[in-house]
Order: sequence, then structure tokens, then C-alpha cells
Amino acid sequence: MKIGFIGLGIMGKPMCRNLMKAGHELIVYDLVEDAVRELVAEGAARGADSAWIASHCETMITMLPDSPDVKAAVLGKKGILEGAKPGSLLIDMSSIAPVAAREVAAECKIKGLRMIDAPVSGGEPKAIDGTLTIMVGGNREDFEAVRETILLKMGSAAVYCGDIGAGNTTKLANQIIVAANISACSEAFMLAKKAGVDPGLVFDAIRGGLAGSAVMDAKIPMMREGNYTPGFRVALHIKDLRNAVDTAHQFGSPLQLSPLVMEMLQWLSINGDASLDHSAINKFYERLSGETLGG
Ligand code: NAD
Repeated sequence: MKIGFIGLGIMGKPMCRNLMKAGHELIVYDLVEDAVRELVAEGAARGADSAWIASHCETMITMLPDSPDVKAAVLGKKGILEGAKPGSLLIDMSSIAPVAAREVAAECKIKGLRMIDAPVSGGEPKAIDGTLTIMVGGNREDFEAVRETILLKMGSAAVYCGDIGAGNTTKLANQIIVAANISACSEAFMLAKKAGVDPGLVFDAIRGGLAGSAVMDAKIPMMREGNYTPGFRVALHIKDLRNAVDTAHQFGSPLQLSPLVMEMLQWLSINGDASLDHSAINKFYERLSGETLGG
């Protein structure tokens, strides 16, 4: 199938590679020319802009940072809606505000373009392996039509969560849990270090028990090495928690932990660490404690 793919960042690039490996023909576009060049060298075709891609493909995927980026790529000048053929399908895999997903889908509907929101969890390693978890909102038939042929070429699980926006609501829940888990790991392992117990031994002792998690397995080794190569950038997690706060305010749901962690991430951001992996929350604890987790 011919697929237009817009947004060739940390996640988009490996997702494109897996789609090409599955035999799909890709037309790609990104604001960053180097990203386009890299995928064209690997067999993708070059799209001039988002409108051009939409006029050449009936299925499009967007993998962009935030709600304003998706709105620009879909509704903006030379955006998807300028070129889209009626009946085409847009799969937005970016993590954006659920309300923004509904707004974009409503504009798409006016032009006869179908849209599902399908954000992912798993990060760069699972994007490379093709084992992402994909959470989907929209029309169930649109989901079923692309589940096997497209979504499960990039992921190992694709779950239908409800109407448009439900994918992103599910993703917010995921991001709240990941944020709280990373900060809990930093706090707990720093306590052990300060109290004179080797964090490596703590990791070995507890990772198989109730406190163990995919987050602990992925992030504690990074924290101990002081290796904060992204991965998932601090700036993107601030964005997700901001969207969680906005959504909670909209629906009157209580948030206690998320704003706390968001402020730790914000502290990192204003201290020049917005582009580090979110495991850099550990730097916040290291600064407070005057101790490092590694070494
Ligand atoms: P990224 O910043 O690495 O990549 C985004 C790409 O989109 C960039 O190459 C940028 O140039 C491009 N872009 C922005 N606006 C554009 C536009 N209008 N037209 C064309 N291209 C445009 O981000 P990422 O890490 O790949 O994340 C993408 C999305 O996936 C985000 O919503 C993020 O929250 C989510 N996500 C990321 C991870 C992760 O571990 N990195 C994991 C799960 C979900």
C-alpha cells in the first residue's frame, strides 16, 4: 500500500523503516531536510509538503511533537487538507491533547477525510523493534481496516479504546504513570545510596518484585550511568503532563502527582536539559541530595 508519512523524528524514522520492511511504499516529509534525505536513501519517495503527500496517498500517518504541530501539518498552509482526496484516512500517531484530536478530526470530516488517533507507547527501542503498543480512538471500522496491515507492522499490540480522542486520553494515562514511576525510582534509589546501600544491589533485589516495572528496567541503568541520551525528551514529557492537566481541568478529575513531576521536568528544562531523556529527572534528585546514583 502507498502510505504518506509526515514527521521523521526519533520515532517516525524507525516506524517508516518497519512499514517499508513490510512491503509498503512510503512517501515521506519532514520540516528537517536531513531526516527526509536519510529515508529517501533507504528507499522512500520524497514528498514536497503535507498537501502534496495527501494528493498522492489515500492513507497518511503523522508522527509529530504536539497539538499545534498536528494542526499545522493537517489544517495549515500546504497542509494535508489542502491536498486530501475525499475518503482518505489520516492516522495521527502523535501524542496530542484529546480535545485537539477531536478538533482536527472535525475539520477533516468536513472535507471527507477520515481520521483515527493512534498514539504509541514503548519509545525508540520498541519503535525500532516494531513492538510498540498502539492505543486507538475513532471509528472502529477505520481501526480494523488498518490494524493488521499497518498498525501491527509497527507495533505488537493495537487496542481500540473508543471514539476519536480516546487514543490520546489513554496515552495521557500512560504518561502520568511513567512520569510518577521515573520520579519514584529516582527518589527510592537515591535514598538507598544516601543510606549506604549500593543502588545496583537494590535494583537486583527488587526488580522482580511488586515494585519492578518496564520503567525501572529501562531507566535505572541509564540513571546509574548518567546516560540521558533521548529516548523520550524532557520537553515532550512536559507537553504530555500539560495536556494531562488541561484534560483533568476540563473533566474535573483530580491530579496530585502529575503537576509535581511536571515541575521537576520544568526545572530541568529551564536549566538547559529540555533535550535530555526524561530519566534525567534523576538529575533533579542528584542536585537536591548532592549525591550521584552511579559510581
Ligand atoms: P521528534 O521531535 O524527534 O520528531 C518530530 C518530527 O516532526 C521532527 O523531525 C520535526 O521536524 C517534525 N515536524 C514538526 N512539525 C512538522 C510539520 N508541521 N511538518 C512536518 N514535520 C514536522 O519527536 P518524537 O520523539 O519522534 O515523538 C513524536 C511523537 O511521538 C510525540 O508526540 C511524542 O510525544 C510521541 N512519542 C515519543 C516517544 C519517544 O520515546 N520519543 C514515545 C512515545 C510517543
